[in-house]
Amino acid sequence: MSNIIFDDKENILNTYNRFNVVIKEGKGSIFVDENGKEYIDFSSGIGTNSFGACDDLWIKAVEEQIHKVQHTSNLYYSEPQTKVAKLLCERTNMKKVFFANSGAEANECAIKTARKYSFDKYGMGRSEIITLVNSFHGRTIATLSATGQDVFHQWFYPFVGDFKYSLPKIEDLNKNINDKTCAIMIETIQGEGGVCALDPEFIKYVDKICKEKDLIFIVDEVQTGNGRTGYLYSYMEYDVHPNVVTTAKGLAGGLPFGAILFDEKTEKVLGYGQHGSTFGGNPVCAAAAYSVLTRIDDKLLNHIKELRKFLENKLENKEGILSISGKGLMVGIELDPKLKAVEVAKKCMENGLIPLTAKSKIRLLPPLNIDIKTFDKGLDILCESIKELMEA
Ligand SMILES: *Cc1c(COP(=O)(O)O)cnc(C)c1O
Repeated sequence: MSNIIFDDKENILNTYNRFNVVIKEGKGSIFVDENGKEYIDFSSGIGTNSFGACDDLWIKAVEEQIHKVQHTSNLYYSEPQTKVAKLLCERTNMKKVFFANSGAEANECAIKTARKYSFDKYGMGRSEIITLVNSFHGRTIATLSATGQDVFHQWFYPFVGDFKYSLPKIEDLNKNINDKTCAIMIETIQGEGGVCALDPEFIKYVDKICKEKDLIFIVDEVQTGNGRTGYLYSYMEYDVHPNVVTTAKGLAGGLPFGAILFDEKTEKVLGYGQHGSTFGGNPVCAAAAYSVLTRIDDKLLNHIKELRKFLENKLENKEGILSISGKGLMVGIELDPKLKAVEVAKKCMENGLIPLTAKSKIRLLPPLNIDIKTFDKGLDILCESIKELMEA
């Protein structure tokens, strides 16, 4: 066993069921392990390295800021923050931004905002938030409570109350809405839940019912955001107007950063002293995010859509693959029931490709700017690995 794996097992809490690989470095869409073996990276560090590993422009943005100052605190104004916030507001038509460090924190802020909006206007008791069955919103106590999967609701009692879980069906949603409801929170594509895209009609209905009943419409774009689906934020594909949008993962290209966007209805809900974060809006992360966001332009979004088409054509009728889900470069692959996703992932890694899994599916989140040749080669390794296991 490698020393690193030994030391990890000795000293790091055993919460991750890691693959037997030590990633040492990378460049673009290639990762290299401690033995010098190369892998095509279809994981982007779970959708964070938007432009792959050690992208030159990204390094330049980060380096420039590191040489100026690494952190100042939120007691003072800071240009990197204002630049990102202005760009986000311009490109989404949202009104204000708050910066956090992760997806779970961004969702905590959204939950606080929804509850306070309702408290300010209607008083105590209108505090129920409806999320969806099979959703994933994070690992803090409140975001675990928001997560609509029973396996996450164990051991850590008591959980935060007043969360209800609806099926992504209009009828079931209507049954869950009552006088106590203050918000509905959705992912347009459930990433951890198995890359399951919601029906566009359902998404539009959530928007409509929230407007009608004065509920806060929250879209969790932690995984779907920042270009991943071929749109800057996935909700932008639909004619809807969320009141709060949360994002993180790919926002700063591999540094920990999250953002919450507020519309005209929610921009004034949180005031002085009502929310905060020591590291939120860190200048280095903000500089990275600015560089990432300026590069998510129409050309890149078209590239993402074209790779999607390429993938769908290529994987059609391939042995062991039953269906493809998701959008853009957020891909779910349903496997023949004979195959286990983790076994397929292991075989891919043996063969020089790093994929992800989500539930029983293979999940792909490659760097957004991966070139078509490398993408094609990665898909070949995937198909070959699946074939080997089918014939084993
Ligand atoms: C990953 C994820 C989160 C949690 O983000 P962290 O940065 O791990 O806290 C929340 N929501 C969705 C949709 C995610 O995919």
